[in-house]
Amino acid sequence: MKVLVLGAGIIGVTTAYELARRGHEVEVVDKEAAETLATSDATAGLIAPGHSFAWASPSAPKELLKSLFSSDTSIRVKPRLDAELVSWGLRFLRECTGPRAYRNTLAKLRLAQRSQELFNAMIEAKGMDFRPTTGGVLYLYRDPEALGRAMAHGAIMRENGQSQRIVSREELLHLEPALANSRVSFAGAVHDRTDATGNPAKFAAEVRKLCEELGVRFTFDTSVEGILLSRSSTDVPRVAGLRSSRGELVADRYVLAGGPGSARLARTAGVRLPVYPAKGYSLTAPIQEGTLAPALGGIDERSLVAWSRFGDQLRMSATAEFVGYSQQYGPKDFANILKAGNELFPGVLDLSRATYKVGLRPMTPDGPPIIGRARGSNLYINTGHGHLGWTMACGAAEMMSDLLEGKATALPAAPYAVGRWEATSTTYRKW
Ligand SMILES: Cc1cc2nc3c(=O)[nH]c(=O)nc-3n(C[C@H](O)[C@H](O)[C@H](O)COP(=O)(O)OP(=O)(O)OC[C@H]3O[C@@H](n4cnc5c(N)ncnc54)[C@H](O)[C@@H]3O)c2cc1C
Repeated sequence: MKVLVLGAGIIGVTTAYELARRGHEVEVVDKEAAETLATSDATAGLIAPGHSFAWASPSAPKELLKSLFSSDTSIRVKPRLDAELVSWGLRFLRECTGPRAYRNTLAKLRLAQRSQELFNAMIEAKGMDFRPTTGGVLYLYRDPEALGRAMAHGAIMRENGQSQRIVSREELLHLEPALANSRVSFAGAVHDRTDATGNPAKFAAEVRKLCEELGVRFTFDTSVEGILLSRSSTDVPRVAGLRSSRGELVADRYVLAGGPGSARLARTAGVRLPVYPAKGYSLTAPIQEGTLAPALGGIDERSLVAWSRFGDQLRMSATAEFVGYSQQYGPKDFANILKAGNELFPGVLDLSRATYKVGLRPMTPDGPPIIGRARGSNLYINTGHGHLGWTMACGAAEMMSDLLEGKATALPAAPYAVGRWEATSTTYRKW
């Protein structure tokens, strides 16, 4: 079967590999040049099932309200005339109850755990050079009350397979000696022993090579502008092809793995996907010689700045802005990353050689990604992985491929289904 995958980010590449491994003829199309990895190259690098919390939670409305009046919050929403944002936001607010947050977090956690399992197995089986860090990830808390609340909040992780424990300030410095130089003090941390870090760009490059060995064709610099439909006798539209800057692209099945671009494209076929971009920033800088840089990945839960060590470089990222699709940025967008870098690891970053990136997290209002078939059609969706696309990529690729082949999925597919909003709303028109 010929499958056309739209998007060569981490989700598209892992999906293409999984499909090719199963014997399908696969072509991947992307509007960017071969060396670009879009949002997937702006990640903090965390492979973090232990941080799969749904953003829509009982405390989220208060945080969002605060962001309307302050510019130094890590999550920012600015009031604007944007029907897509309003519609997405109302759905998000509906998910902010305790039971829904629990259900959504569990769906994310299960997929992230399955993904990490497949990811580790693939690295082993294929003898890949890529190696994630081991030793876990640290979620740092500056005050004891917040640390205490984190332990209660994290029960869902521990009760569902994550190996997490609270570490004191002394233990923290033992686990991560680089924090001894920190200008801010921490009450302690949650240490997730199996969370990891790694550079998705490196992994994706290796997966692309594996794909090419299996005959996958990559077509870059090709923008897909619309989905062409043909009506069948059953009145269920089927995709006849994709309209692209290089003419019509034809296959038997189509997978939209275009990150936040998927929603706009799906709309050309009458499929509404509630995916909205959350803009974030990352900075990568060489580590200054002779300084003590962190070995483990982490998140400062106060500033929500996250980091990973990529060899002799440190990647730091932050911020979630709900401001549309613009990918423009300026120096002030990196202010909180620079502040956290200076507070946590003073003198470590060689900022004279830093590189700056922006990315758009494809967010669903409830949190779990959208994986599955648009009803009755040959159009499939694999998007909406939000803040955890790097973490969930291999698991999402497996689920997508099982569904495309009509096979049973390793995890129940319902929490990720394309039509899961259908029952509660008429806003999202389905085929
Ligand atoms: C600051 C930041 C930090 C993050 N940190 C982490 C982290 O630590 N761990 C983690 O797991 N996740 C993290 N994420 C989330 C993760 O980066 C995303 O979930 C993931 O990259 C989404 O991958 P994707 O392949 O769906 O999208 P993308 O990487 O955006 O790829 C989509 C591709 O589709 C192409 N495309 C779109 N529309 C079209 C079109 N019409 N025609 C042709 N091509 C098209 C684009 O050019 C692009 O190459 C972070 C995100 C950000 C922004």
